[in-house]
Amino acid sequence: TAALDLETLRADFPILGSRIGDSALVYLDSGATSQKPQAVIDAEVSFLTTANSAVHRGAHTLAAEATELYEDARATVAAFLGARPEQLVWTSGATAGLNLVAYAIGNATAGRGGDEARRFALAPGDELVVTETEHHANLIPWQELAFRTGAVLRHIPVRDDGTLDLDTAASIIGERTRIVAFPHVSNVLGIVNPVAELVALAHAAGALAVMDACQSAPHLPLDLPALDVDLAVFSGHKMLGPYGIGGLYGRSDVLEALPPFLTGGSMITTVTLDEASYLPPPQRFEAGTQPVSQAIGLAAAVRYLEAVGMPAVHAHEQVLERRLRDGLRSMPGIRLLGDAAGVERVALSAFDVEGVHAHDVGQFLDARGIAVRVGHHCAQPLHRRFGLTASVRASAALYTTEAEVDVFLDVLSGTRAYFGVGR
Ligand code: PMP
Repeated sequence: TAALDLETLRADFPILGSRIGDSALVYLDSGATSQKPQAVIDAEVSFLTTANSAVHRGAHTLAAEATELYEDARATVAAFLGARPEQLVWTSGATAGLNLVAYAIGNATAGRGGDEARRFALAPGDELVVTETEHHANLIPWQELAFRTGAVLRHIPVRDDGTLDLDTAASIIGERTRIVAFPHVSNVLGIVNPVAELVALAHAAGALAVMDACQSAPHLPLDLPALDVDLAVFSGHKMLGPYGIGGLYGRSDVLEALPPFLTGGSMITTVTLDEASYLPPPQRFEAGTQPVSQAIGLAAAVRYLEAVGMPAVHAHEQVLERRLRDGLRSMPGIRLLGDAAGVERVALSAFDVEGVHAHDVGQFLDARGIAVRVGHHCAQPLHRRFGLTASVRASAALYTTEAEVDVFLDVLSGTRAYFGVGR
């Protein structure tokens, strides 16, 4: 894999040249949202300027052009994930994708979707399994589904070193398990979870494996069918794309049998005043007017990542990951969350600065141009597990340089002294 030409690549991201006060911006918050290359901004502007029109309706030339661009975007993004176009449902993001699945399963439980959907129906006492590391987006929809159906929510614990306790997972996942939901990569720990083991446990129990790929899709080459997950979600804005677009990937037999969540226009075949029949996936899950320019922008993001090459992105980010983690690990007064050795990771680390509140660390860094995320990162149970209410998270992307990581580490190393903590 050839090394990335960072200087050229960074020039594609207009915001990276910004200054924050007197300092050059060091953007280490890509885990929250990535920056966007000009090609993505241009793709949306160009669509809105020259081809904007409603898709899948209207007999006119622009409508046909818009539909073609929109469906090409689906094919591009699906292929990026190793999937076929009909396996990709557009959603507004990962949160919407996970709610779609949970509500659709609730509808199946209520008897919707006919015989085919009965495989998803939950009975009181059936079990939904998540992990202790979950982002709230992959936790609360399952809590709500459990409330509505009488199912029981269980969790795979996380060990002190940040790895999932697979022994306990094997004892929890059993014949009552219907769903095993987990993140490919935790948005706090940065650890790549053992997907094959989790999927094997789920499938041996006859459960659906649902994967949150938010923090892996921008960083690793992904082949969702090869990972054998049944359903997976991602957010476009975390992978160089626009806001308001993301996706739900599903195995074809799963999507075909799943009843819809949102209902309305564009997802039906025949409607009477009493009932409606639904289109096959993906349209069955895409009620209402769709985020067309955003989908086209996301396809531009994926083309950008493909042109750079995901193996090259991954290789570069692995260098950043080691530099970041080694620097944090050797810094006095820093407690890294999930410091397991010998696990695969992405370049994202959350940590506690002993004696200084995360929000103070965030302000101290910001005053020197460094953007990090502070708080619980929508993972309160995980923070509680580690005895914290908040942490500081630094997260990189393909455009992050080693020099930026060094600036961050250098500034961070002065934090405790600045606040009069430690020596
Ligand atoms: N899961 C993970 C692991 C995340 O990092 C995020 C975003 N912080 C989400 C889900 C939710 O994504 P969105 O807000 O784009 O729906």
